[in-house]
Amino acid sequence: MDKKTVRDIDVRGKRVYVRVDFNVPLEDGKITNDTRIISSLPTIRYLIDQGARVILASHLGRPKGEYNPKYSLDPVAERLSELLHRNVEKAGDSVGPQVKERISLMQDGDVLLLENVRFHKGEEKNDPEHIKQIAELADVYVNDAFGAAHRAHASTAGIAQYLPAVAGFLMEKELTIMGKALSHPERPFTAIIGGAKVSDKMEVIENLLNKVDCLIIGGGMANTFLAGLGNDMGKSLIEPDKLQEAKSLVDHAAQKGVRLLLPVDLVVADRFAADAAHSVVDVGDVAKDRMALDIGPKTIALCQKAILDSKMVIWNGPMGVFEFDAFAKGTNAIAAVVAEVKGTTIVGGGDSVAAVEKSGLANRMTHISTGGGASLEFLEGKILPGVAALNDK
Ligand code: ADP
Ligand code: MG
Repeated sequence: MDKKTVRDIDVRGKRVYVRVDFNVPLEDGKITNDTRIISSLPTIRYLIDQGARVILASHLGRPKGEYNPKYSLDPVAERLSELLHRNVEKAGDSVGPQVKERISLMQDGDVLLLENVRFHKGEEKNDPEHIKQIAELADVYVNDAFGAAHRAHASTAGIAQYLPAVAGFLMEKELTIMGKALSHPERPFTAIIGGAKVSDKMEVIENLLNKVDCLIIGGGMANTFLAGLGNDMGKSLIEPDKLQEAKSLVDHAAQKGVRLLLPVDLVVADRFAADAAHSVVDVGDVAKDRMALDIGPKTIALCQKAILDSKMVIWNGPMGVFEFDAFAKGTNAIAAVVAEVKGTTIVGGGDSVAAVEKSGLANRMTHISTGGGASLEFLEGKILPGVAALNDK
């Protein structure tokens, strides 16, 4: 990686502002998945051991620039205290004289969690005055929030104008593994793209066609491609204004010699529900009143072979409506084969990661990306503002 990391800088006795991604899912004020907190622990522990004064900053949800107790980081402070076996105090705000005062009382090795950075409008606006207020709090900036690196906000990018700016270990890991996949992949290299965000993923597919040997398209994505190729998809979810683009991506794949696998059979249902009546049909036989909610067994078999032959696999987007057990077979089958691959396997995307975690196979993957939107933009080949802002080696 060509960016400096926490290893390249002296932090002893310094006030270190660490932007982490503690945007965890909450239900009734309780954290339902603490993966993001756990993923940031190596950087936090390292900084404590080095004698830094560790100031943690994160967003949580979308409070739209105003204080809202619903999005307070209190539950995170509690969970973090348990994980670090020490009391992590939380400040009442993320900037301002009181926060500055509180920081001035910190000792080497202390940890302080700031309140949600998005309680201030200046955060998402990357406002120059707000950036100055943040920069006053610290001597060094560490960005470990890969999941927010695709945003040019005050705490993810702006602050780097004023302070030495380096990557944390999670950021480094994400950039190294996914960077290697795009620049020096092991071959055969297969990408699996599914899910429902067709328009968001078109550019990802276009970019990946320049890198991969094999591209598998499944899930809701596949419906738009199959329709673009002239198949009647009944009531399936498709994006009508993307049919032409889908068709030309199929042509590009052929021109570039990329093997493209689209479903040959589908699980169709009479409605979008967990208990919908369903059956397997070949592509081309989807009735007017049916919708495709999963890939079929012939498709699974085709994909299995291609995936097992690969040395590197990137997967983004479930193969079907995995939230309903009846339509989770495709996703679970693909998760099981990806877990068998002798090579590097990378899973990115919020729902894809949830599906792999649900299947119990998450620990069999080489890398589970913590950033949904960020990993997509990275795979599109875009430069992430939060990464660009960091100091070069
Ligand atoms: P990710 O978060 O991994 O990037 P997306 O957000 O693009 O993935 O898509 C995930 C969603 O796609 C899931 O909620 C899943 O139910 C839905 N989905 C998958 N296949 C289909 C399908 N055939 N029809 C409708 N929705 C689908
Ligand atoms: Mg999603």
